[in-house]
Amino acid sequence: MNVAVIGDGYVGLTTAVCLATKGHLTYCVGLLEERIDKIRKGIPVIQEENLEQMLKDVLLENRFRPTTDLEKAVLDTDLSFICVGTPSKTDGSIDLSQVRDASEKIGHALRRKSDYSVAVVRSTVVPGTTDQLVIPSLEQFSGKAPGKDFGICMNPEFLREGQAINDILSPKDIGIVIGEYDEKSGHALAELYKTFDAEIMRTSIRTAEMIKYARNSYLAKDISFANEIANICQKCGADYLAVKKGMEMDARIGKGRFLDAGAGFGGSCFPKDVRALATRASEIGVNPEMLKATLRVNDLQPYKLIDLAKQAVGRFKGKRIAVLGLAFKPGTDDMREAVSIMIVNSLIEQGATVCVHDPKALNNAKTIFEDKVSYVSNAEKALRNADACIIVTEWPEYASGKLYQHMRKKLIIDGRRVLDPKDLPSGFSYHAIGLSGQVKT
Ligand code: NAD
Repeated sequence: MNVAVIGDGYVGLTTAVCLATKGHLTYCVGLLEERIDKIRKGIPVIQEENLEQMLKDVLLENRFRPTTDLEKAVLDTDLSFICVGTPSKTDGSIDLSQVRDASEKIGHALRRKSDYSVAVVRSTVVPGTTDQLVIPSLEQFSGKAPGKDFGICMNPEFLREGQAINDILSPKDIGIVIGEYDEKSGHALAELYKTFDAEIMRTSIRTAEMIKYARNSYLAKDISFANEIANICQKCGADYLAVKKGMEMDARIGKGRFLDAGAGFGGSCFPKDVRALATRASEIGVNPEMLKATLRVNDLQPYKLIDLAKQAVGRFKGKRIAVLGLAFKPGTDDMREAVSIMIVNSLIEQGATVCVHDPKALNNAKTIFEDKVSYVSNAEKALRNADACIIVTEWPEYASGKLYQHMRKKLIIDGRRVLDPKDLPSGFSYHAIGLSGQVKT
């Protein structure tokens, strides 16, 4: 099939490259010529494992067309995926301006299109958005009728940054949800997925929109639950890691749940999606107690890490603090709503000299912290002159005890339980979220 992907960000670019890899002629549509030009040259513009090589391959095979010409992309293809951003507004509700703009432009292109094609909403949008915003825009700007002249689906994206390519190409564990305007629309999209090894659920558009929010809210709620229990452990002489292991022994809970405690969740999805659903629920007369509690616990959690660090370090003023990990999670350079932003800013405000390291996110960090911190591309270098180290992102390389051997002051505050203190050389004080007291090595 021929596919247009509107949006060249974390979802759009990876989706477009993956569909091209599957043999479909794929357009990736962006707004900025400079960004699209980089993509044309094989520069992936975002960090995602294997993306660079796959991008180069599909460009060479001439199956992948980065462009700013949305109209041509829609005219040449059978399916148009809307993969544009849906950030939070200041009141917590969802900002649908990019979705509106993309829908209007697709509608405009459909006016000139003689054959049937399907618009697919892949962005995360609150229930009702496709019916109340996307379809009316498509209708108005195309002058055509949904169902008759063009089709519509809502097909939520479940990829996890850091493993996006695997999630898109092998969605067996996450499934594929197709919300369809009518059978013909759903059938066209199901055709695209027929070679994917995954269960396909076909449902209504509003249900598909809601499934995405229900999943993210469920997972976010688990993290806030884990953090609350870990905070209690820290105060009552228990170690949350052992408590978690004991919980997982119960088959009704099981392993592999979202029960890691730490400095809270960040990123471009969980915080904004829970906020958007909570705001929408309030608007329609449902008081979202669980969603609000999930957000409240999460908002306070970075301060728990700062408090823990303060107890261990004393006053921050005049101290050199190494912060390891800035991306909101390992495997990405994405710093949207990353917990590290609040942690680093708080350290600076309290007079610390901050040196930061991240394997992938330093470029993004520079646009946020500017010259307020020093940046090092080698974690050991960040640690060498530090009075203390705070681990904020669980990059696997931070789990090696050896990394810390040349620290001037042997003080570690682990915000993600990434490090086993048994692996540290002797002489260290190790403090962690969910750990009562400290471990001396
Ligand atoms: P992003 O901000 O990284 O990318 C959006 C891109 O779309 C931007 O580059 C923007 O310039 C481009 N864009 C906006 N309007 C456009 C238009 N009219 N034409 C062409 N390009 C346009 O956002 P993202 O992280 O890729 O997320 C996209 C959507 O997917 C959001 O709704 C998000 O909630 C959802 N989602 C994201 C993830 C994730 O892990 N990032 C996972 C699942 C779902």
